[in-house]
Amino acid sequence: MMIEKLLSLTNPRVANILDAALSDREMTRDEAAILLEATGVELHALMAAADEARRQDCGEDVSYVVNRNINSTNICYVGCSFCGFARNKHDEDAYDHPVEAMVEKARGAIERGATEVCIQAGIHPNKDHRHYHEILEAIHSTFPDLHIHAFSPEELDWGHQKSGMPLKEYLLWLKDAGLGTIPGTAAEILDDTLRKRISPRKLMTERWLEIVRAAHGVGLRSSSTVMYGHLETVPQLAAHLETLRNLQKETGGFTEFVPLGFIHEKNLLYKELGARAGSSMLEDLRIISVGRLFFRPGIINVQTSWVKLGTKLAQMALLAGANDFGGTLMEESISRESGSQHGEYLSAEEIRMLIRDLGRVPVERNTTYQELRRFDEEPQLTPLQGGESDGKTVERAESAANPLRVLAS
Ligand code: SF4
Repeated sequence: MMIEKLLSLTNPRVANILDAALSDREMTRDEAAILLEATGVELHALMAAADEARRQDCGEDVSYVVNRNINSTNICYVGCSFCGFARNKHDEDAYDHPVEAMVEKARGAIERGATEVCIQAGIHPNKDHRHYHEILEAIHSTFPDLHIHAFSPEELDWGHQKSGMPLKEYLLWLKDAGLGTIPGTAAEILDDTLRKRISPRKLMTERWLEIVRAAHGVGLRSSSTVMYGHLETVPQLAAHLETLRNLQKETGGFTEFVPLGFIHEKNLLYKELGARAGSSMLEDLRIISVGRLFFRPGIINVQTSWVKLGTKLAQMALLAGANDFGGTLMEESISRESGSQHGEYLSAEEIRMLIRDLGRVPVERNTTYQELRRFDEEPQLTPLQGGESDGKTVERAESAANPLRVLAS
């Protein structure tokens, strides 16, 4: 009823698009482009419609995963203009962790309750396909129950080129060594004109699609992502969404859609190439809401990234169509080193507190969105009520209320 009232106040063109999306008619790319510029009452209507669609698609559960990021090396030759993470091998803070250190990080993750490690890194010019295989073998043989979510399409492209194997064979070789799923990163915006401006040495659209299609084909599911808030136009953004939706219709391999706002502080894309200073809050909310409506019913999990948005805006995204809070991460550094100010770890307890704050039900999931634990009955936590044994919960909970505090401490 509330939505009907809101739609009656909304521009008729926008109201029709939202009404159709709630009636299960597939949204066109041009319609998505209109919504991606919604402001005022149209934006309110978009968010309300997406929230209703989320309720229909996923109910009141909000899922999250207990995971740890592990970056094996920050040495990278690719030179993406938006990256503040990559280092030259001669830089003082360049690192290249041995495989044994990766295993120890995985052990530490398990000790803190993780079900997944997410492994991504720079493209080290002296490594090849065997390096990726060694990492998988070492971690998987030590911790066979730990899910390994690893290697962006850029890393898979590099390893595949070095391997000389057919692509399918190469992916199966990694899967046999323990690869569980892959991140759908390195997508940025799947438009070659734009890709040649922001990261000319990175794989182009057709190769990204070839790799992800092949991965889905051998049973390696992936996330789907977009990086927005830099030089892209609204039509390019809408076309990107359509490219992802088309691939999902073909393979069904995407587990979720994760919009990733561009972090502008420490990179050339903003300083020298004229990108805008990251996304606005309106853009952040629009892409979540449009993602919810545009991908249904093919992708029903829409994830908000607290690392990019901060915890408060991530909560808002859960009211605008998102149903997943992402992961605890434990060692997030790619966004942080590009200038993100939102910390590198949130405990599962803090995540549940943020979800409960919205009157929703926290659910711990695994990487492929199977429910592991529900928290229907957990008592309401407040930022001043601890629960963890490491004595840092209060500090972290305060950080959740004020993400900048993470940086200050
Ligand atoms: S985004 Fe990845 S591939 Fe590009 S420079 Fe950074 S680490 Fe390298």
